[in-house]
Amino acid sequence: MPNVDRRSFLLAAGGLTGCVAAGGAAASALDAQPATVQTGDQHRGVCSIASGNGRRCVDKAMEMIRAGADPVDAVVEGVTIIEDDPDDMSVGLGGLPNEEGVVQLDASVMHGPTHKAGAVACIEGIRNPARVALLVLKRTDHILLVGEGARRFALSYGFNTEELLTPRAREAWLKWRANRSLDDDWLNDEEMDFPAEPRLGAMRDIPFTYGTVHCAATNARDNISATTSTSGLSWKIPGRVGDSPIVGAGMYVDNDVGAAGATGRGEAVIANCGSFNIVEHMARGLTPTEACLAVAKRIADRTREKRLRDERGRPNFNVSLYALRKDGAYGAACLHPGGTFAVHDGTSSRVLRCVPLFEA
Ligand code: ASP
Repeated sequence: MPNVDRRSFLLAAGGLTGCVAAGGAAASALDAQPATVQTGDQHRGVCSIASGNGRRCVDKAMEMIRAGADPVDAVVEGVTIIEDDPDDMSVGLGGLPNEEGVVQLDASVMHGPTHKAGAVACIEGIRNPARVALLVLKRTDHILLVGEGARRFALSYGFNTEELLTPRAREAWLKWRANRSLDDDWLNDEEMDFPAEPRLGAMRDIPFTYGTVHCAATNARDNISATTSTSGLSWKIPGRVGDSPIVGAGMYVDNDVGAAGATGRGEAVIANCGSFNIVEHMARGLTPTEACLAVAKRIADRTREKRLRDERGRPNFNVSLYALRKDGAYGAACLHPGGTFAVHDGTSSRVLRCVPLFEA
């Protein structure tokens, strides 16, 4: 949809419903109700939104903004709670590792008023990559530091190195490795001519997972900022960088317009400049929900490889997209049902469903 404006989006949305329905599925969100009536799109005032695992982030961000903090510090402190939580296996400490069993973390942060960004990718041994990204933003003339350089940068500011692979994440990784192929030298429980260790045998199969935390906040006056932090795709090829530390992909802010973020299959988000596109759609007049749906549709339309499409031609993966306008309007969409997001609207926080592009 080149030069999409609010009107042409809604017209195109009608076309979308027809065309997707002809393919055997309905664009439920657009069928069921115009995206404009989503409650979040009508909200105004101080607000923070996050991915579904980020309710504690929005609570923290709101508490800090109310106390006078810069939203950029507020969102980073918000996601730090999730990075520190070993039970969230998608971020920071306890994140699932790469195929060699090493936890490599990615994060980015962007500050609306200065239009400055900071990011780190493939950083090892440091549990709080969003805080490191914020230091890149504040203390350097650069935007993205990777790998060993990012780690040494963090060490220079007093960050501790530690083993981020928790026993639970290691167990999941060992199980994945043992079951990856029957032709390699790693034996799974059935191949082993030996009783399996009870713990390993009891571990739930985790073939691969995505998982990330995104958080954005606006004071509804002069400052909107955002951050995204992740351990990335589990069992990834060492050195793989997802969308989360890529400014314009996993996160983007334009202080005149708003902020956006993404979670899910990072390759699809990078290839469609996901967050940048959401913010640009809002600049052209789409509501936050409409802007997220427009990018969800773009991702679906441009998923052309057969291995990434289901029998109905739809993407066989999910992506969730989040948008917060500077005035406090907010919304979120996903490709397939299941995506959730957290919001604190200045009164209370809750977790809501993202509007899906496709029906189940
Ligand atoms: N987007 C992240 C990545 O691809 C993963 C996720 O959000 O689950 O690295």
